[in-house]
Amino acid sequence: MSKLIKDQIKILKPSATLAINEESKRLSKNGKKIFKFGFGQSPFPIPDSIVLELKNNAQKNTYLSMQGLEELRIAIANDLNKNNGNNFSEEDIVIGPGTKELMFLMQILFQGEILLPAPSWVSYQPQAFIAKNKVHWIQTKNSSNWFPTPEQLEDKIKSIKEKNILLFLNSPNNPSGTICEDLEGIASVAKKHKLIILSDEIYSYLTFDDKYKSISNFYPERTIVSSGLSKWCGAGGWRLGFFAIPEPLKELRDSLKILCSESFSSVSAPIQFAAIKAYRGDHSIYLKAVRKILAFVGNYAYENLKSNLVNITKPQGGFYLFPEFTNAKFASSSEMCKDILNKTGVALLPGSDFGLNSSKMIARLSYTDFDGTNFLNNTLGSNKLDNADLKKYAPNIVDGINALKEWSNSL
Ligand code: GLU
Repeated sequence: MSKLIKDQIKILKPSATLAINEESKRLSKNGKKIFKFGFGQSPFPIPDSIVLELKNNAQKNTYLSMQGLEELRIAIANDLNKNNGNNFSEEDIVIGPGTKELMFLMQILFQGEILLPAPSWVSYQPQAFIAKNKVHWIQTKNSSNWFPTPEQLEDKIKSIKEKNILLFLNSPNNPSGTICEDLEGIASVAKKHKLIILSDEIYSYLTFDDKYKSISNFYPERTIVSSGLSKWCGAGGWRLGFFAIPEPLKELRDSLKILCSESFSSVSAPIQFAAIKAYRGDHSIYLKAVRKILAFVGNYAYENLKSNLVNITKPQGGFYLFPEFTNAKFASSSEMCKDILNKTGVALLPGSDFGLNSSKMIARLSYTDFDGTNFLNNTLGSNKLDNADLKKYAPNIVDGINALKEWSNSL
């Protein structure tokens, strides 16, 4: 039989995040105790008012516009302008079935090369690969909070011949849980070299200190803001994301709309109607409680795992830690994660999935393995959380971190 799959596609593996989610579930189902620290998904419920809106709109059965429902785009632009200090109009917004799909289409249409900080989320590089875009990595360090410094960025740009460069920046960061502290410095280098920035802000509302800053404030003319419902609203499975593409990048926006129309047509109508509520409503009480729990759980995991043998940067937002086990000696970080899973039941993702050298004994830990509905409902009124709350509402975090600590001590 002649070959059916293109060489380029044949060498791809299922996305690491989705694969670890399915493998963790499979092992649990087979009776093994698994601490599900591999996949990064909000453990919290979708706010009731938004769920109700979905129910009320279940009968919406027509295709909506390829760019997305106008009312939703207005709600998103207003939300960004109010909370993110932007100046977007509804014309700048494109709605997609999750930002992942929009990023993929952007890679397909973009004529140029891709610049990724290492570590970066698992799908940026494979998407670039599928779209045949050349990727350049900037290896970052924990000393700069796992973000490139302006100097590193400038040096890298100078080594690239291509004029069109698309830089991905994700703060709060997946996989490190850290925040980029020199957005201004990065923006000024980007401006000088006319980079396009794709600012992945999917965790922005989960910034623990509540003072989120977007690079789009310093470089509005060529920054695309990417976000959606998945993380702040606990609605990953609803698959709704957006890009806000400023007027100077209109060419990209128009082309993206065409690719939307030729791929998914338009996003599920009931979900778009419900999302209006998500962006118009006041969810500050919910968000404050969610952030309080995540910050508490993240800090507990950080404090209890870090040691002179385990390096971790303090979490600042989102729900990840990026521990380095300095005394681990395995052929690769992926072999290390297999050993951890076998011996402790803790599922992690290796640093190599995020663009780090596989010899670095580092892994991503998602501290979301708890029942967020229960945790939220029982602590909504309390000002301060303590370790007793954690033992009660997030026992897998306590036990999984202990197991991991014991594993690292036994090396
Ligand atoms: N962003 C999540 C993660 O990194 C899961 C969603 C995905 O990768 O598609 O684990």
